[in-house]
Amino acid sequence: MIAPDATIGFVGTGVMGRSMAGHLMDAGYRLRVNNRTRLKAEPLLERGAVWCETVADVAEGASAVITMVGYPVDVEQVYLGSGGLVECAAPGTVLIDMTTSSPVLATRVHAAAASAGVRAVDAPVSGGDVGARDARLTIMVGGDADAFAHVEPLLRVMGPNVVLQGGPGAGQHTKMSNQLAIAGCMLGVCEALAYAEGAGLDPALVLSSIGAGSAGSWSLANYAPRMLSGDFAPGFYVKHFIKDMRIALDSARELGIDLPGLEVLLALYERLAERGGAEKGTQALYLLYKEHAAGL
Ligand code: NAP
Repeated sequence: MIAPDATIGFVGTGVMGRSMAGHLMDAGYRLRVNNRTRLKAEPLLERGAVWCETVADVAEGASAVITMVGYPVDVEQVYLGSGGLVECAAPGTVLIDMTTSSPVLATRVHAAAASAGVRAVDAPVSGGDVGARDARLTIMVGGDADAFAHVEPLLRVMGPNVVLQGGPGAGQHTKMSNQLAIAGCMLGVCEALAYAEGAGLDPALVLSSIGAGSAGSWSLANYAPRMLSGDFAPGFYVKHFIKDMRIALDSARELGIDLPGLEVLLALYERLAERGGAEKGTQALYLLYKEHAAGL
């Protein structure tokens, strides 16, 4: 099991990563950090984290390295690229990818790591920016049981619900299942609010009823108030949700699973992105229902 004062590498200190890394520091781990844009790591550096110019440098002396980057292409570069983690991490290091990425890529990283004497797990998260900030993330892990047991205490610093779902890629498959459940909720929340407004009701008052009944959900509780107050900041980027839906559809196709509902939602989000919404939070889907007022 990882020592409570071990040195941990962290790559990707964006919306999610900076909170997650901060909790690790609070728990007593020593941090080595890298982010493409150094400015976003500054709050951690001010607290004593060590800045590293490269991911290879991050791995230097680290018992485990966590990555929370954006896209599969970033994961591929950070792990499998020249000077990447698989090439540079010392044997015995556990590499933990918490990015939402492709299950197939997770299995490739696991295999490449194993040949280099390094262990790798995929451990994507759910709970949003709020869950990251409050250390309340749900963490879905794929990989070998011994690697999981080694890093489980580290993961528990970032959230209480940490489950080994199966072998390599199982964490990412579980996250796809999670995104499918969220997709349906987002559509439902938007259409519930659009209908309530169209019917001349006070949508905030409507929320006080439907949020307490069987329609209640995390999306309704967290996103509907942001939609109504015109707060479309990320949170969870539209561009990242589109990435997730494309991964889920590709993966479903390979598995021979039909997901017609997800195709509808992806087309709506692609329309939102084409109209300038890619950098907004996913609650901005509501703007499509209010196009006349949106300025999209
Ligand atoms: P983000 O703010 O864009 O953070 C990703 C960070 O990774 C960025 O700061 C980026 O650098 C950095 N990065 C990318 N490639 C890199 C590389 N090769 N080397 C070093 N740093 C690199 O995104 P986020 O919202 O934190 O999300 C991160 C991941 O978690 C995504 O896969 C997302 O789908 C997933 N996720 C997000 C949420 C959420 O609510 N936000 C919830 C669950 C899961 P720059 O600063 O230069 O862009």
